[in-house]
This record gives sequence, structure tokens and C-alpha cells, in this order.
Amino acid sequence: MRGILLTKPESGFNAALTEIDEAGLMEGDVTVKVDYSTINYKDGLAITNKSPVVRKWPMVPGVDFAGTVSASSHTRFKPGDKVVLNGWGVGETHWGGLAQTARVKGDWLIPLPLSLSTRQAMAIGTAGYTAMLCAMALKRNGVTSEQGEVLVTGASGGVGSVAVALLSSLGYKVVASTGKLDQADYLKQLGAVEVIDRAELSAAGKPLQKERWAGVIDSVGSHTLVNACAQTRYGGTVAACGLAAGFDFPATVMPFILRGVTLAGVDSVMAPMALRTLAWQQIATELPLAKLDAFTTELPLEGALAAAADIVAGRVRGRLVIDVNR
Ligand code: NDP
Repeated sequence: MRGILLTKPESGFNAALTEIDEAGLMEGDVTVKVDYSTINYKDGLAITNKSPVVRKWPMVPGVDFAGTVSASSHTRFKPGDKVVLNGWGVGETHWGGLAQTARVKGDWLIPLPLSLSTRQAMAIGTAGYTAMLCAMALKRNGVTSEQGEVLVTGASGGVGSVAVALLSSLGYKVVASTGKLDQADYLKQLGAVEVIDRAELSAAGKPLQKERWAGVIDSVGSHTLVNACAQTRYGGTVAACGLAAGFDFPATVMPFILRGVTLAGVDSVMAPMALRTLAWQQIATELPLAKLDAFTTELPLEGALAAAADIVAGRVRGRLVIDVNR
């Protein structure tokens, strides 16, 4: 099979598009012919070796894939079934989606919702499924569209773009924070009512600031997350899923103890199957698929290498879909 292979011999790290012997596929009860994979931020870190995402060598990266089952001894899946996979350590400790074939545990797979193609599923990918987990956290905590504006940080990125499209289609007034002000029209096309400069949120601020947000989806971390909490209205919720600016959280407890703000952590990698199945069902019904094209760029497999460097450098808009057979 053709695929991206990451190796780390003593001579140093290497990432290359190459022919890979399928005999090397790791243990699993379902084999999948992959149609599409994606480049998420974490894939960028793995392929550029910028942080220790990969914990087994050699590794096929790609935390996401969508395709068709070609062989299965799992009770829930048979050849011909369309499936999607996100996370579970795939692309980190288990060979991942950036190759033409994948073999994984059937317990990790989700049947592709009928209304989605494999390409659409990867236009959504882990980033979009995480945006949905964040939106579910806001809803679970009672954040409604009548309560006021919701903030999305890192708005032009993968999680951010899907979050803007999703929340606006659910009727929320979405304010998009971005470092790419030249992408304001793009963000408004996705449904943002206002676009703000991320510089407004990225420096150290006061522990309690003017109350503005009913809810927040943050993929940036560090001071941005701290300021988002400090600006969240009484009883609001901040869903934190990312660290694009840093994993530090130099905060005070003031928003939590004086305004009853909830900080909801969101993890997609090990999320239980019931939650991820629900998230994908809701994506299929609540995300306006017509907006997918606006934030999707498709690349051939060899494009994954340059795309990885681009996403780590913050140069990517929206979502990157990889056609592994091109
Ligand atoms: P992207 O690179 O597509 O998006 C991140 C965005 O953050 C960028 O587009 C940029 O948006 C903004 N950004 C980048 N660097 C900085 C910076 N130094 N300061 C402030 N903003 C910055 O990545 P993804 O959307 O795929 O992932 C976003 C984050 O979420 C990552 O940290 C990723 O690891 C995390 N993540 C976590 C998951 C989980 O399970 N918890 C799952 C998926 C992702 P703009 O230019 O518009 O400001």
C-alpha cells in the first residue's frame, strides 16, 4: 500500500511517502480500505516531529480515516460497511489513516452516518467531531442562543471553522476570534456575526473582566482561555479543547467562584463510544453540509507532508482532506 511512514532510526527522524508492506499492519479485527484521511493539528505535530505524539516506530500517522471494510471478524462490521475512525491512539501508537489500508479494533469504529460520504466525514474529521463535543458541552450546561453571544477562538482553524458553522446553524450569535483578519469574510460566510482580533484575548488580563460571553469554544489555551473565562457571563460555560497557543493556564479561580462559570474539558481521543456515536449522529443532522466545501481543501497523499508543516505554523484555513488513493 502507499502511505506516509514516520521512522526514527539512530540517524534521526524521517517522514516520507512510500510503499509500505501490508504485512506490517498492526493487530485488529477489522481491515479497512481507506478513502480519505485528514491533517489535524496533532497530525501536523506527528509528521513534523515537533512534539512526542508518536510513541511507536515506525508509524503510519493519521488520527482519522473513513473508508470501506474489506475484512472483518468483528460482530458489528462486515465487508462493504462504510466506517469512520477518530482517535483511540491511532496515528500515535497504532498505524493510522494516512495510507491506503488500515487495520484496527472494530470497537474503535463508527458506522458512517448514512447522509455522509467518506469525503464529508473527513472534511469534518477529529476537528469537527471535537467541535461537536464542545457544542454538546455548552448545550448540556444550559447555554442557549437567547443568553447572548458565544465566542469561538482559533476560529479560522479546523475546530474553529466547524464550531462557527455549527453554532450559527444552531441559532447562536457567534463571535469569531482570529489572528487572520483577512479571513473575516470567510468567517462571516460560515455564520459569524462578528469577527475580533485574537490579540484582544492573547495578553495577560484582569481576573474578572466585563461579562460578554454566554459560552465559549476554545481551541487556543493559555491567556486566551484565561481571558475567555474572565469575560464569560454569570453561569456561562467555557468548553476547552485545545492548546494552539500553549498548554499553560495562568488563571485565577475568580470566574468560577464569583460568577459560577463552568470550565468544561473536552477530549475526543478516548471519548466513550456512546458519546462519539451521538456526536456523529448530531453532526449528520445539525451541521449544514453545504458549508463543508467553504472550509475544505482536498490534497493528494503526498500533500500531507507539506500540509503538516503548514498546520503547525498556523498557515491553514479550515480543514484539510487527504485523498489517500491520489
Ligand atoms: P488548526 O491549526 O486548524 O487551528 C488552530 C487555530 O488556532 C489556528 O488556525 C489559529 O487560528 C489559532 N492559532 C494558532 N496558533 C495560535 C497562537 N499562537 N495563538 C493564538 N491562536 C493561535 O488546529 P485544529 O483546529 O485541528 O486544532 C486546534 C487545537 O485543538 C489544537 O491545539 C489541537 O491539538 C486541539 N484539538 C484537541 C482535541 C481534543 O480531543 N481535545 C481534538 C482536536 C484538536 P486563527 O488564525 O483564526 O486565530
